[in-house]
Amino acid sequence: MTEVEIDIEDLVRQGVLTRDEARALEHAQQSETGGAARMEALPETAGLRDGGSDDGEDKDAVKEAAVKHKRHWVRVTRVCNQRCTFCLDSMNQDGSMIDTNSLKAYIALGRRLGRERLILSGGEASVHPDYLELIRYGKEVGYEWIQTVTNGMMFSYKKFARKAAEAGLDEATVSLHGHTAYLQDKLTGTPGAFVTGVKGMKNLQDTGRVVVNVDVVINKQNYKHLPEILEYYYNMGIREFDLLHIIPFGRGFDEHRHSLFFDLNDAVPYFRRAWVWANKPGVYLWTNRLPVQYLEDFEKLIQDPHKLFYEFDGGRHNFEGYLKRGLEPDCWGERCDYCFLDGACRSTMFPYREALIGSRFQHVRLDTRHAFVSPDAERVFRAQRPERVWLEGPDVDAIAGALPQLGHDSAPVAVRLDDGADWSQANWAEDGPLGRVDRVVVRTVEDAAAVLVGKQRLPEHLTVEVRLDKALAAWLLARPSTIKAWQGRLVGCLPNHQFLSESQEHDPPPATLRRLADAGVRLKNVPRCVAGGDVEPHDHELLDANLLDRGGDLDLDRYVHHYIEHEYYAKSLRCYRCALQDNCRGSQVNYLREHGFRMLRPLDQSGQELPDAGSFEDITEVLKEATAKRGRRERDQIIGKHRPDARVRVAIDATRLGKSPGDQPDA
Ligand code: SF4
Ligand code: SF4
Repeated sequence: MTEVEIDIEDLVRQGVLTRDEARALEHAQQSETGGAARMEALPETAGLRDGGSDDGEDKDAVKEAAVKHKRHWVRVTRVCNQRCTFCLDSMNQDGSMIDTNSLKAYIALGRRLGRERLILSGGEASVHPDYLELIRYGKEVGYEWIQTVTNGMMFSYKKFARKAAEAGLDEATVSLHGHTAYLQDKLTGTPGAFVTGVKGMKNLQDTGRVVVNVDVVINKQNYKHLPEILEYYYNMGIREFDLLHIIPFGRGFDEHRHSLFFDLNDAVPYFRRAWVWANKPGVYLWTNRLPVQYLEDFEKLIQDPHKLFYEFDGGRHNFEGYLKRGLEPDCWGERCDYCFLDGACRSTMFPYREALIGSRFQHVRLDTRHAFVSPDAERVFRAQRPERVWLEGPDVDAIAGALPQLGHDSAPVAVRLDDGADWSQANWAEDGPLGRVDRVVVRTVEDAAAVLVGKQRLPEHLTVEVRLDKALAAWLLARPSTIKAWQGRLVGCLPNHQFLSESQEHDPPPATLRRLADAGVRLKNVPRCVAGGDVEPHDHELLDANLLDRGGDLDLDRYVHHYIEHEYYAKSLRCYRCALQDNCRGSQVNYLREHGFRMLRPLDQSGQELPDAGSFEDITEVLKEATAKRGRRERDQIIGKHRPDARVRVAIDATRLGKSPGDQPDA
């Protein structure tokens, strides 16, 4: 039994939860950061009941609120009345209904975990004999909002749709992958799917109570029709669309790969005509699992990075098996080339584990206030041989006290104290307690003033790293003489944020960064093409002590958080023409979502902007040709899909896991 009194094993036996879902639930109960409770990311439609408002509509804010909304997904059946070619759930379907009492127990558990929105899914949830009772029960135990995901067929019975609304159904997400019977019936493997699905959708709309939206799995059969699909359902009153890119799992990859998977470069003209629907007042588009480079000029449609938690929860046994025991994920191999998770999984998580077990992390970070979770975690952390240590603490005494036990003796130390801490008593002598410190980090105007120009001005051998926000950038720009006095020892670091709203609120825009660089501030974590000159790279490959679990392995949930904030970077497809392509990671995803790929401007060997770098569309034409002539792998190498160092490490990893590097998709 875990904190909430419920027998998770019994829920697994009853078929309510898969093993992975059970593990995710256990994590959710054990930790603030674990499992589905801390990250819920399907569309928030409560505010769209009236079709949205054209006045002052802040779609970013609505979407982010949705991401933070706490949802409780409940699989109601292991059966479906359609046979979609891309079904991700087919391996979980055995034709059975799940026991109503077990479902109620799990629904009630969600409320006890503080979840606000109940989502009934399947298989096909609506075929469960007690479906209406489950909706009523959801209301009874206090869910604010009850949503169902459905193919719509059952709701083609008007009475059923009305009864569902009366029971308390607030929202229905209807899966409609085409705007014609030919497309929908073919993709769902079900004659009549289109007619009944659309009828069900209309019946639900007619209740006047249920918010109805549409989800579309984008695949080879329908991508050319995407603009028409949106138009068709828009004309039927739909204002919210969830567009899911096909992924290499389930039946779609195993049985229908050649008829479902497609080259994204072929789809660009159709996609761009589809994405403009997002600009219509009251229309909400969500993209799912779509490689971010293909959203150039429509960056606000980049999926919220926190949706990664769902993806990792869904394969928890795989990822934890790899992180804790080095076991090859069972999806690993040719699927990786098609996988949206590649960046977070193969290209970063694998190298992270390699670095951990090889004691090769380049950066380590420790907060003096937090004890290691176990002796094993401490041993693994101290075994690293980093190039730099980042040490945080409340005050100088805490840092001075921690340094002698720190280990990593040859690495220089950067120190960050709490905002407003007193630096004046620090003894910076080389043989003193802070002798290893060569850099201090400040985050407020007050602290920057204190260490750069005030009474606590730091000695000359120290570099000051200023974590830039709008106020600090303005403060620095107003003080050219201070910048000059600190030339070579002043670094302006653009911090990363978990959420788009944080980036919007705090980050200086690209033009301000360029002005800072022009004024003499050495920028960090800013692409060189934005800074207009030399930059300091971000501290990639950083082992924060709190990433480690009791066994001294990387904790999956903490890793995903860390990945989003620290390693989720992207570049434009146009970057392939840049002389720095191989050594540049681009920009953190939330800064990109706010400022767009167009801020990135490919450079030549001398660091000058290329006058003929071409447009996004030009590049996709080049990539199409490359794919046609030389294959997908070659194309991926052109755009640097996998970091070169990651490729080498993955090959190493495969050897250790008993595969030959020749088996590697990228080797
Ligand atoms: S990238 Fe990771 S999640 Fe995706 S197929 Fe490969 S091993 Fe599986
Ligand atoms: S690779 Fe892209 S992001 Fe990096 S400097 Fe070149 S254009 Fe800018």
